[in-house]
Amino acid sequence: MNELERVIEDIEGIDAPERVVVLTGAGVSAESGVPTFRGAGGLWKDFRPEELATPEAFARDPLLVWQWYEWRRDLIRAAQPNDAHAALAWFEREVEGACGYSLVTQNVDGLHRRAGSRRLLEIHGNMFRARCIREGTRREFPDSPAELPPRCTCGSLLRPDVVWFGEPIDLIADAMSEASAADVMLVIGTSGTVYPAAGLVSLVRGGMTIEINPDETPLSGAFSSSIRSSATAATRAVLEALARRLASCR
Ligand code: NAD
Repeated sequence: MNELERVIEDIEGIDAPERVVVLTGAGVSAESGVPTFRGAGGLWKDFRPEELATPEAFARDPLLVWQWYEWRRDLIRAAQPNDAHAALAWFEREVEGACGYSLVTQNVDGLHRRAGSRRLLEIHGNMFRARCIREGTRREFPDSPAELPPRCTCGSLLRPDVVWFGEPIDLIADAMSEASAADVMLVIGTSGTVYPAAGLVSLVRGGMTIEINPDETPLSGAFSSSIRSSATAATRAVLEALARRLASCR
């Protein structure tokens, strides 16, 4: 029996969960062709993301930061949600009006939304939105701007509406209350090195915690089970098993 089969058997043996929370990281989008930060494809012109995704980098060189975001935004516009994104959107529809479910993502690529997920906390923001650095107003920002760096109508710079390294996360309290109420937490494609998101799994009290990641992570020891597979190879099967267990609380 492999790890995936063992987890499915475990799910079949637990009490019907009332609250399922999923946390995703960059790895869930890797099979859509979106580079993760940690890994060979994560570099752009020899800059490390930690050097560009910071308020200091933006203050120093907003053009450079926007050029990096436009490179990533172009890649993602050309990418499609994969079967792991689709399975999460399917699961949300499946449990509609029944058990508690929410999807917390660290991703800023908008692929969960494009796949149809709506009960979604994008805790690190979304790079297809922009925010005026003076007024703080947010707007949808899907297209490439005519000029870089783009400006607000008030004349101030716009920035990507994402949370940079060192910045506070407005939605973390919501994500923490979801995690602490979870009976089951499924964590897909996160290296577990970016806090506070990486701390969410430790808030699950006595529930089942499952990791899907081809590689071991610093958090692996904290899970009840780890499935060493890619997101598309394991996510749908795990969610189908959970959906069968949730049936009793419909
Ligand atoms: P990370 O880059 O630190 O780690 C990615 C993890 O995904 C690794 O543990 C890797 O083993 C795993 N992985 C790689 N391929 C996988 C696959 N096919 N299936 C499942 N897992 C796979 O990403 P992180 O933990 O999310 O943290 C980095 C930060 O970078 C986050 O804050 C996130 O906002 C941001 N980020 C977002 C995107 C995106 O929106 N797509 C991309 C890169 C980074």
